[in-house]
Amino acid sequence: MKKFLSASTKPIIICGPCSAESREQVLKSAEEVKESGIEWFRAGLWKPRTRPHSFEGVGEEGISWLNEVQKMYSLKVCTEVANPYHVELCLKNNIDALWIGARSAANPFTVQEIAESLRGVKDISVMVKNPTTPDVNLWLGDIERIEKQGINDIIAVHRGFNLQNNLPYRQSPLWRIPLELKQRRKDLKIICDASHIAGKSELVKEIAKCSASIGFNGLMIEAHSNPKKAKTDAQQQLYTKELKSFLNEINFPLQNKGQEDCNLQMYREEINDIDENICILMAERMNLSKKIAQIKIEKNMTVFQADRWKEVMNRTLERGEQAGLSKDFLQEIYNIIHQESVRLQENIINSKNGK
Ligand code: PEP
Ligand code: MN
Repeated sequence: MKKFLSASTKPIIICGPCSAESREQVLKSAEEVKESGIEWFRAGLWKPRTRPHSFEGVGEEGISWLNEVQKMYSLKVCTEVANPYHVELCLKNNIDALWIGARSAANPFTVQEIAESLRGVKDISVMVKNPTTPDVNLWLGDIERIEKQGINDIIAVHRGFNLQNNLPYRQSPLWRIPLELKQRRKDLKIICDASHIAGKSELVKEIAKCSASIGFNGLMIEAHSNPKKAKTDAQQQLYTKELKSFLNEINFPLQNKGQEDCNLQMYREEINDIDENICILMAERMNLSKKIAQIKIEKNMTVFQADRWKEVMNRTLERGEQAGLSKDFLQEIYNIIHQESVRLQENIINSKNGK
């Protein structure tokens, strides 16, 4: 059996629209993908939408368009499957690769059904996106379910995780999760769906560059001949015409290298993630402090409450010690946080009092 994806020695680049919308749109986008020197074309036929009544894909009709793309442009084509019926249609019509989307990947029953419908199939490549929650075991389990049915051309696709706060992106990259998968399954290739992480076309490049710099094996990028008119994910799709220059800027220096070569960059990305979260949490903490200022005004309380401050500090030092942090360090940081909190509350109270 030919392993199209997992045996590739070059970075795996898969581009195309979020959704197949019309024959013309598919062929035009494919023509421009081909002109960019790309070998793989993607287009969703069945679209998992968060809410009903929005465009849910053209379905079965689009398969013949993908077949035309294969013939006219010698591109390999792939689409998302979410149930055994989708799989059956794709297999019957020689679609080159399938992917399991993030919502399906979150449900082991769904993945098991899809996996069983692939039992013993030759010449199919399967991509497994990460589930929407950052659970590396669930993702790994999805891959194992497909492997157990005898499919041996499987790659993983990192498309980000849906946390409470994903800003500035649509999904949080949490690089440590795909890298943990990579560490646990050194044989497995991982590509990055930078479009669904970024959520905005102008942010796709920084995510793509970051994934390449930490040893990912390729990219899935949403691109449309006319993104402004796209029926789904219009904000994040690139122009297919722009793909060539976009890809020229992405280097894959660590492609096919071991984990050790990626560690420095990986740890730096994780630190960036954590620093962003520290800022977000700090802002949330200060906002709560401001709300408390209002209550203190109503109850006629002083800003500084010695007992409460003692309680906060003790609790923090206890947690910090359990986490292996030095007492001096935490005390210093918490004194600064407390000072800022007091300053904000005093500002509110003073402006209320017309000072
Ligand atoms: C997609 O690739 O079009 C898609 C719906 O992706 P995800 O499952 O990652 O949301
Ligand atoms: Mn999409």
